[in-house]
Parts: sequence; C-alpha cells; structure tokens
Amino acid sequence: MALIVQKYGGTSVADLEKIRNAARRIKASHDNGDQVVVVVSARAGVTNRLIRDAKSLQAEPDGREMDLLLTVGEQETMALTAMALHALGVSAVSRTGAQAGIFTDSAHTRARIRKISGGDLREQLDQGNVVIVAGFQGISEEGQVTTFGRNASDLTAVALASALNAETCQILTDVDGVFTADPRLIPEARKIEEISYDEMLELAGAGSKVVQSRAVEFAKNYGIELVVRSSFNNNPGTVVKEEVASMEDVAVRGVALEKDQAKVVLSNVPDIPGTAAKLFQVLAEDEINVDMIVQNIGRAGKANVTFTIAVEDTYRAERAVHRWIEEVGAKSKVSIIDQIAKVSVVGVGMRSHTGVAATMFTALAEAGVNIQLISTSEIKISVAIDLAKAEEACRVVHSAFQLAREAPSP
Ligand code: ADP
Ligand code: ASP
Ligand code: MG
Repeated sequence: MALIVQKYGGTSVADLEKIRNAARRIKASHDNGDQVVVVVSARAGVTNRLIRDAKSLQAEPDGREMDLLLTVGEQETMALTAMALHALGVSAVSRTGAQAGIFTDSAHTRARIRKISGGDLREQLDQGNVVIVAGFQGISEEGQVTTFGRNASDLTAVALASALNAETCQILTDVDGVFTADPRLIPEARKIEEISYDEMLELAGAGSKVVQSRAVEFAKNYGIELVVRSSFNNNPGTVVKEEVASMEDVAVRGVALEKDQAKVVLSNVPDIPGTAAKLFQVLAEDEINVDMIVQNIGRAGKANVTFTIAVEDTYRAERAVHRWIEEVGAKSKVSIIDQIAKVSVVGVGMRSHTGVAATMFTALAEAGVNIQLISTSEIKISVAIDLAKAEEACRVVHSAFQLAREAPSP
C-alpha cells in the first residue's frame, strides 16, 4: 500500500463532468489499495474571474481580503470533489489549507510555507478515507488565511508529498506531460520522458507554466520525484527527477515562451559606482521582479541601462524609476516599451555542447527576428524580442534544434 499525492489542475476540474472524471481516477487508485491525498485547484477561469472582480472594485485590493476571496475557488472544488467521490461510494473528506495544517508566513497573496503539521490527514488516511486538500492556500501564525501566488496548487501537492513522505506525487493536467515546447503553440512538440529538476526549473521560470517553478524548487530541495501526466488518459507522462548523465546527450531539452514582458530603457545614466546598485535597490523595495539587464559602455560619463519586467509591473516600475531619478539627482530619461516576449532554450547538455547560441541566433536571424536583449545561465539562453514575432521565433528555434516528433513512417 502506497501513499500517493495527486494534484488536479483547473482544467481537469473545470466542470461537473470533469470533476466526476477526476473522482473516477481517484477511486481507481483508492481501489488499488493506495492511500490517496488529492490536491485540487480552482475550476478553470474562477481565480481569474475573482481577481477581475476585485480589481474592478479597487485597483490594489487589500491582501488579506484578496486571500479570503481567492481561496473560495479551491474550496468550491474540494467540496464538489468529495461529493463526487461519495456518489461513487468512496469515503472522502475535504480539508482547507488551514485544516491540513499548512502554516505560512504572513505575506498575503505570496506567502511562503513555513511548516506542515498535516492536521488529521494521517488519521483520515488510516481510516481508509481519501483526503482532498484545497490547493494554493495556508494559514499564517496569526491565524489569517494566506495564498501562495498563481499556479501554486502544484506547490501544495509537492509540499504535502514531502511532509507525508508520499511514494509519488502526480501532477495531473490537460496535456500528456512536459513537452519540448508548449504543445498548444507547437503541435509537433514531443513529450519528454524524463527531465531534470534544473531543466524543469529553468523552463518553468522562462514561461512554461505546466509546473509552477516554486513547486519544482521544493521538489528538488526535498528529492520528491514528480510525474506530470494527463488527467484525461492513461499515457505515461513525464518524470521530473534528479539529473542523470545521459541527460547531457542532447544540447537543448526544450523551448519556452514568456509573453507579457516590457522593456525599461534608461538613458543618460551617470556612469559611476553605486548608480545601478541604487536603481535595483529601489526596484527591489517595490517588489518588482527584474529579469534581463543590459548596461552599455559608458561615454562622456553616461550610460544606458535596459531591463525587462512583467508587463503588469509597468506602472509600479515607472513610479520606482522616477523615485530613483529624484533620489540620485540624475537627468536620466526613461522609456517603457511593452509588447516584448522572451524566448528561451534550456538543456543541461549546453554544458558540454558548443554552438547552442549560434544555432539559436541563426534560426532567429533567418526568420527576420531581431534580438533586443540576451541573457544566459549555465543551462539556458534567453532572448527578448518583439511580441509580434514570438510564436514564429519559438517555432524556428524548436525546429533548429530538431526537437519535433518524428513524422510517422508512411
Ligand atoms: P493546470 O491547470 O493543470 O495546472 P496549467 O494550465 O497550469 O495546467 O499548465 C498546463 C498547460 O501548460 C498546458 O495546457 C500547456 O498549454 C502549457 N505548457 C506550456 N509549456 C508547456 C510544455 N513545455 N509542456 C507542456 N505544457 C506546456
Ligand atoms: N487557482 C490558483 C490559480 O489559478 C492556483 C492554481 O490553480 O494552482 O492561480
Ligand atoms: Mg498549473
């Protein structure tokens, strides 16, 4: 008898028929003799609708109220899933994050998990019950309901798998696993059988939302193997695990696309020690996540600094930059260009293969895609480009690294 954690994403519980489908899968595992902990997301579209409602009442809603609002989505799914299981004759109980003893810090809407006591999960499992836990939420030490940030039901699943010492943690979603690129964008993308934590982490951080990056980070730190697979069929899926030597055989494992980026260009920046430090300090104080950064060579004591941010942070970034201009007394000019996208290639094989950047940049050049910024890590190369060219750029890069499925033989 194994203890397994199964996480069902929003599309997998989008309507009552899908909830019944999830319940049938859960029942099959339970009938198999496994102890099953289920983590559920809000039904597809619910969280977005709640956020829209909140923001149409107030531009920057209070974090505590926001968390109370957003947790409703997961709470609805957990109770409906329990009912669907009851209807199939399976004994099941649902638990909110707080009831499952998921304790967090008190940073509303982006809380971090501090510890998991598990509440009465063990007793319930030992009594033969399926336990359904609402994803993406916990409780602060002050007793306030908190959430962990978008897509973080994956994190609930991984953290519970670790706390309960589960044998396996399955991320059940609406595609067959992790692909060489988003299969909705590139239909010829191939399913990856095994991927290392580091590659998955880089892909997730670069925009492949199939598994949330903090969940992958947690899985890596605690050695939890993840299986990403479809909730709609029984195909095997992708295993996310510790790196093995053969993973370096291919240079590029996958391509990721992040839309909704903006580029902030600062000109006439004083080229003296401490200027950049102060600028990025001001941005950090306002919790603006800066991604790619480029500073050109200074001339006549002045330089240009360019960086990218998420488009939703544009207004706050502009405010922060103006504060910095005032504080340092600079005569810098700021311009913000939205409609930017980031395309990345990721693979642990980059450590031992040369020419990855050349292949990527040549493919982009041949497609007439202008590269605006470049950033690299040991296993990733990212470029910022015009949003209008984003999908084409992904396609040409994907095919330049021959990542596509082999065509079926005639
Ligand atoms: P869930 O609601 O189950 O959490 P998500 O929408 O968060 O599902 O993630 C699944 C989606 O991720 C897929 O529908 C797919 O469009 C997208 N995706 C992006 N990149 C990839 C990739 N490399 N492999 C698989 N899916 C990807
Ligand atoms: N419902 C939350 C969201 O949409 C969490 C999740 O689905 O993982 O972001
Ligand atoms: Mg998701």
